[in-house]
Amino acid sequence: MQPYKPEKVFVERAVAESVITRNVLGNLPMAQVEWIDEAGQMVDKSRRWNPSIARAKQSLVLARHPGRFFKPCPAGTTKTGRRNVCCNYFVVNFASNCHMECSYCYLQAYLNLPYMVVHANVEDLLDELGQVFSSNPRSHYRVGTGELADSLALDSLTGYSRPLVEFFAGFTNAALEFKTKSNCVENLLQLDHRGRTVVSWSINPPTVVQAEEHKTASFEQRLAAAEKCSAAGYPIVFHFDPLIHYPEWEKDYRSLVEEIFQRIPPRSVPWVSLGALRMPPRLKALVRERFPRSGLPLGELLPTEDGKLRYFKPIRVEMLSKMRAWITAASPQTRIYSCMENTDVWQKVFQSQQPPSEVELGDSLLQLL
Ligand code: SF4
Repeated sequence: MQPYKPEKVFVERAVAESVITRNVLGNLPMAQVEWIDEAGQMVDKSRRWNPSIARAKQSLVLARHPGRFFKPCPAGTTKTGRRNVCCNYFVVNFASNCHMECSYCYLQAYLNLPYMVVHANVEDLLDELGQVFSSNPRSHYRVGTGELADSLALDSLTGYSRPLVEFFAGFTNAALEFKTKSNCVENLLQLDHRGRTVVSWSINPPTVVQAEEHKTASFEQRLAAAEKCSAAGYPIVFHFDPLIHYPEWEKDYRSLVEEIFQRIPPRSVPWVSLGALRMPPRLKALVRERFPRSGLPLGELLPTEDGKLRYFKPIRVEMLSKMRAWITAASPQTRIYSCMENTDVWQKVFQSQQPPSEVELGDSLLQLL
């Protein structure tokens, strides 16, 4: 995987003293740097310049996040008001945008600012989390950084993982999840994580990685990085998401599951998640425009109750059920759940009357650490 090297770095004066700013500028001694008063200027700049998505990603903006970092994951709430089965997850948006280019990535249709943005005021982020965790010691928090960005893809530049891992090591009622399609794990390997940071990979068979997940780490690179993190004692999670339906999917996904659990000890994998391809309708046209050679079977996607396009329900149930069976055979103790699916699909896949509540599911996962 090629490391991210922006052509230009814009730095908000408010984060001039941040350790993240120092790390980035120290790691990019040759980069062109422009100091700005506030990142809002970049919105005007992008309107006037109107760069392509790929071109805009060549600029990195280091900015102060002005509001709250910590919030509930929006995955369970849908535009139609209908709730998907959710896992009581929280997110902190330490960055937004991603230099990798997955054809199906929803960020293409979602972000207002087309540049790569890193919120460098990590001190404020840690203060805010410390207050939340300490004032509610009986509550449990699983917190991810991968909602609007890849958690680790820029880590060799920013070093953001270090203060986060060390901070979470001090709490027993919270756990951090880094979710990535990169192999940037070098900063993690020597840290005293105390089992409170989970490193997770969103993963697909090599043919899907090659065809749809451009500029990401290859399947082999991701698995090699997972092996390193497992050897360093981190709990490892896999998100089989988005599952892609194509003629050879069964053979490919079955081998994927078998290879993962042959190489990563099942005891290192407390849970995995499953989710089939889905996208907001406006993304479909963008995928066709930006990735005309994509093999995604977009024609098979149909509107569903939550406003997203998805595979026909029997296909989703079949894919999730078979994945569940293969994973259970390879690693009986690993907990499996599904993200962003409705109650009906959950009941059919997990053969249960009623899915667990958000808090039950979230707490049961946290107890596995
Ligand atoms: S790695 Fe994740 S965030 Fe980056 S382009 Fe792919 S799906 Fe989007």
